[in-house]
Amino acid sequence: MAYSRRTPRQMQAATDSVAVAPASPAPARAKTMRSPRTGMMRQYDLVERVRSYNPDTNEDLLNRAYVYAMKAHGTQTRASGDPYFSHPLEVAAILTDLKLDDATIVAALLHDTIEDTEATRAEIDHIFGHEIGALVEGLTKLKRLELVSREAKQAENLRKLLLAIADDVRVLLIKLADRLHNMRTLEFVPPASRRRIAEETLDIYAPLAGRMGMQEMREELEDLAFHTLDPEAHAVVMQQLDALTDRNRNLIGEIESQLSRNLQNNGMAAHVSGRRKKPFSIWTKMERKSIGFEQLSDIFGFRIVLDSVEACYRALGVVHTTWPVVPGRFKDYISTPKQNDYRSIHTTVIGPGNQRVELQIRTEEMDRIAEFGIAAHAFYKDNVGSPTERLKRESNAFAWLRRTIGILSESANPEEFLEHTKLELFHDQVFCFTPKGKLIALPRKANVIDFAYAVHTDVGNSAVGCKINGKFAPLSSELQNGDEVEVLTSKAQAAPPSAWEALAVTGKARAAIRRATRTAVRDQYAGLGRRIVERLFIRAKIEYADDKLKGALPRLARSSIEDVMASVGRGEIKASDVARAMYPDYKEERIGRFGAKKNLATKLKSPPDAARSTSAIPIRGINSDLPVKFAPNGGAVPGDRIVGIVSPGEGITIYPIQSPALKDFEEEPERWLDVRWDVDDTTPQRFPARIRVDNVNEPGSLAQIATVIAEHDGNIDNIHMSRQSPDFTELTIDLEVYDLKHLSAIIAQLRAKAVVARVERVNG
Ligand code: MN
Repeated sequence: MAYSRRTPRQMQAATDSVAVAPASPAPARAKTMRSPRTGMMRQYDLVERVRSYNPDTNEDLLNRAYVYAMKAHGTQTRASGDPYFSHPLEVAAILTDLKLDDATIVAALLHDTIEDTEATRAEIDHIFGHEIGALVEGLTKLKRLELVSREAKQAENLRKLLLAIADDVRVLLIKLADRLHNMRTLEFVPPASRRRIAEETLDIYAPLAGRMGMQEMREELEDLAFHTLDPEAHAVVMQQLDALTDRNRNLIGEIESQLSRNLQNNGMAAHVSGRRKKPFSIWTKMERKSIGFEQLSDIFGFRIVLDSVEACYRALGVVHTTWPVVPGRFKDYISTPKQNDYRSIHTTVIGPGNQRVELQIRTEEMDRIAEFGIAAHAFYKDNVGSPTERLKRESNAFAWLRRTIGILSESANPEEFLEHTKLELFHDQVFCFTPKGKLIALPRKANVIDFAYAVHTDVGNSAVGCKINGKFAPLSSELQNGDEVEVLTSKAQAAPPSAWEALAVTGKARAAIRRATRTAVRDQYAGLGRRIVERLFIRAKIEYADDKLKGALPRLARSSIEDVMASVGRGEIKASDVARAMYPDYKEERIGRFGAKKNLATKLKSPPDAARSTSAIPIRGINSDLPVKFAPNGGAVPGDRIVGIVSPGEGITIYPIQSPALKDFEEEPERWLDVRWDVDDTTPQRFPARIRVDNVNEPGSLAQIATVIAEHDGNIDNIHMSRQSPDFTELTIDLEVYDLKHLSAIIAQLRAKAVVARVERVNG
């Protein structure tokens, strides 16, 4: 079947309506969404359309927008050869079918002006006000994003953005109308793009319309896309549908008139209409269930629209007493509305000719919401009722919108959205642009630092300032959806400030900052190391030369001179080691620099040989003069992941990685040393650990605890007691254990004791 842009009615006749004459005039439902247009709509027509549902419309505003958009698009033409302006005009017309407010209609007229003409946001703000300016800008961002995603295959992001940007749902409504008009006029577009646009419609826009409760919009988008993507299948389904409709013509009329008659006899004014499934949904069902057309039982359905909820239930009673009910098909969404506010009674009966007949019973209001969803609910301007009532309706509308967004964001809600699983709402993300229009997706709360690193590590490292949407802003500014971010960089900045690490939200930025900071710190250490080495050489009156050191690199197990110098600066190797590597005859002058070294060694009961002091604590990654000790409150035992913290003039303190004390050093990454244990199962050494035990105050309880520890080969160094309450004493016990396994075993044994209420390890 061929349909043309100018004869959508043909298409409608072929796809939509069942040949059933309505028993009563159709309810005031927009039918013009698909009405044919012969030539371009006039300015007056548009104003009339709006006035028909909104008598208070600002005609002057509409007229100005009409003229402005027409002039802005000037002589531009569409692929069809029509003036470009016909497009925004049709989009606006579609939105009048949804009875939307003036701002939406005006924004629809202007929706392509910023992107495609000389018009600017500032000018639109100036002429039409900020509200309309913001709507048009929202659409401009979406369009720009579309262009980008097309090239970059970022369709996934586009899908997310569509919903993330929904702080004004009217932007999405205009976007959907825009897409609908483009789909209706798709035949003029070259075949390759035609296919892509249809796929995008099926993947993104149709499900979006569905999720926003706009079933009529969804169905039309789906069918237009289906027709483009698989014309043969579309034609086959259509043929079958037509044939079936022909065969059942009498039956359908019969059912319809029986229903109407029965309801009328019971004093109910009902509008009964037959409806057949759309080709696309039939096709999907055939595909999904791998069944043939003949096996589909629910191609026809009937809708009974009444004037009150009470009438709905009475109608249900009439239906159920007239025909046998098909069990298991009754659903009352009036008393229990669906989450998206869909309300209706569903039931299936065995009607005339033994046909299963699906019925939906609802009020006009429910019908409107079922068809137009968010548009019907949120922005229906009918000026009915008092201002208070209108206000109430409006706040209900926003509650509905919030709820809808809530539903959209729930990924798993199989009953509601089984068919629309492709679309998800990503409210945890923000989407921003580079000045060249590249899309950058970031987690919520991300700032410009994250953005800069997402663009490129070099951009992040050299970032010194930024502009957001053309205005200077701090780098720590939290980004909003659609922000255009320009990062200002400077070559003078060798490394980012280490404080950025705490500001950044994304792992990528934090890692990059840490790396860059480390490199910068390494450079500093290398500079320091070089001075130390040079000083030693001067003192020892020997000659230093880079070339000579180069030859000695293997002996120092370093790959570059820089490496050697940084290691010296960090204290990992001694300057005298460097001298010895270069001049094997070199004799080190012995200078005791760290008095504390001896004390520490004694404490650890290792041989008091200063030269071997660092091996008293069996840790790799340290090879220097600096004394090594454990964190004072709790220590670390093999099995703990550990880090060394360098304290100038004091030495290196080993902390377990979980130690809360490490927080104090977060701002100084240059003090952190990567260290590892140098022990195995045979190492006989013990290590300090601290535990806290809450024990019940009863005679002998302390002895029990000491016994457990002793029986499990733990050494108690010290016990500190403090009474917390009459019943409990808190014990802080310093132990010596072999490793983490040993410590855990002791803790487990303690926990098994009745006198012990709680045991916890204390991390220094
Ligand atoms: Mn457009």
